[in-house]
Amino acid sequence: MSKIDLECASCGHRAPYTQPLAACPQCSHEWFEARYPYTELRDAERWLAWRKRPFNMWRYRDLMPLRDDANIVSMGEGGTPLVRLDNLALMMGRRHLFAKDERQGPTGSFKDRQASLAVSVMKENGVNEVVVASTGNVAISYSAYCARAGIKLWAFMNSTVAGEKMREVALYGTEVIKVTGTYDQAKEVAATFAERKGLHLDKGIRSFAARESMKTLAFEMCEQLGAIYGPEVPHSPIPMRAPHWYFQSISGGLGPVGVWKGFEELREMGLIQKLPRLACIQAEGCAPIVNSFRAGLEKPQDILTPQTRIITLATGKPGAAYAPLRRAVLASNGVMEITTDEEGFRAMHVMAKMDGISMEPATGVTFAGLFKLIAAQVIKLDDVVVVNCSGHTLPVTEDLLGEGWARSVAAEGAPATAAPAPQQEGLLAALERLDARVKSVAILDDDPNAVRLLKRILQARRGAQYILYEANNGREGLDLIRRELPDMVLLDLMMPDIDGFGVLAAMKQDDRLKNIPVIVVSAKELTPVEQRRLAGQVRLLLQKGAFTDQDLVDDIQAILDQH
Ligand SMILES: [Zn+2]
Repeated sequence: MSKIDLECASCGHRAPYTQPLAACPQCSHEWFEARYPYTELRDAERWLAWRKRPFNMWRYRDLMPLRDDANIVSMGEGGTPLVRLDNLALMMGRRHLFAKDERQGPTGSFKDRQASLAVSVMKENGVNEVVVASTGNVAISYSAYCARAGIKLWAFMNSTVAGEKMREVALYGTEVIKVTGTYDQAKEVAATFAERKGLHLDKGIRSFAARESMKTLAFEMCEQLGAIYGPEVPHSPIPMRAPHWYFQSISGGLGPVGVWKGFEELREMGLIQKLPRLACIQAEGCAPIVNSFRAGLEKPQDILTPQTRIITLATGKPGAAYAPLRRAVLASNGVMEITTDEEGFRAMHVMAKMDGISMEPATGVTFAGLFKLIAAQVIKLDDVVVVNCSGHTLPVTEDLLGEGWARSVAAEGAPATAAPAPQQEGLLAALERLDARVKSVAILDDDPNAVRLLKRILQARRGAQYILYEANNGREGLDLIRRELPDMVLLDLMMPDIDGFGVLAAMKQDDRLKNIPVIVVSAKELTPVEQRRLAGQVRLLLQKGAFTDQDLVDDIQAILDQH
């Protein structure tokens, strides 16, 4: 393994790493950074050897603070896919949006990286009993890895953590302690307990092993982007490329702080040239880091009673995390943003319906932040954006879905329910009723991606169903409209053969077609003359890449309802 030094973040005191230190011998500070022999690690031969290793986080073993491979506690964590968000990109009018799919870790969150390395380091240092405070995900992940390592775990969770999550923690044999109060209070109780019992306390972001694990996210995404877009540095032994933006929501702040160090190390080793911009998002009801950052404070202002329903984001006292996060965001010309819980929930719906990705509410907040920064034009057309996408969806509550998310139909011969419907109806009648609101929509667009996006948006609309017809040029489109007489037409203006203006002119001359409402969805900026030509039958003009799915379905439904 590489020779590793520990460096005090306050006074710079540096000594070879032999065992974790509680405090700096020179200044008593408790924050250490691991430093590696970067010049040696630049060696091309080494990277070529690394490339042959399996694609999981231990591929970057030489940049992780563990002395002996025998102590690795692993379940193949890391190496998660970088998923291209094609439908979202189409909808948002941006070209390169990706999710780093951390749902695919052994317990479904990016915390598996932390648990794997932190528990390995504990094992190496002879720890056999450990105390952790958690809003859920860390406790689940640590429980799994401690079980493998034979380490007894005490998990202190605030009482707002969902019962299902607590039961999952207990399943692994962890001692579950439910603390009535906030997460910050649970942390204090855990620390007191550990001290009284003389047990090892996991220090969260203040543990360098925990932070070091998060670097592997940066290493992986740069490798994955290098494979897609080619190396940033010519003749690099391993093609790597940093994104323009890295997005993550913050609670304790461990993720972005660790990931940032990973980018810095890659630059130090000459594998990338530019560092990405960091976007850190917090929930409005508990945003001490963002609020303090925006106020230009050097020390954070705590939130004593977090007011967010997103429990995993309810860290009100950022403590030591604030300074390094602030430094990283300032250094990267990054952004700190806030979203409401509702915006986060709404983003979960969008991501599930548009790209098939169901995520935890904390990640919903991250995506809601992305939507905001795209709307504000902070994210440019060609920016490559990676969003940390963690899993472990909360057990889906009514809170998230609202009412009317399911409709029921009794199968033939099914026993009658306690309260039978006043009017008994057969299966076929019931199924027919499900289709009662069906309307037909013709989509005329020569861009197959645009058609796919519009179809996806309409298909995902709950409680209303559409029969969708499509045509890829004006002539076919007109034939289709004459044949099917749809309830509405979504029309692109720039099409080969007969363009959108021609289609409209032909519709106006046909008595059967002249009253069908038309929505123009166009990439083209219209001149005033063109806008006048569209007046009348065209009810709405939408600019491609500049509307949300909800806007579109609302508009369509409103126009159909009037009709
Ligand atoms: Zn020091």
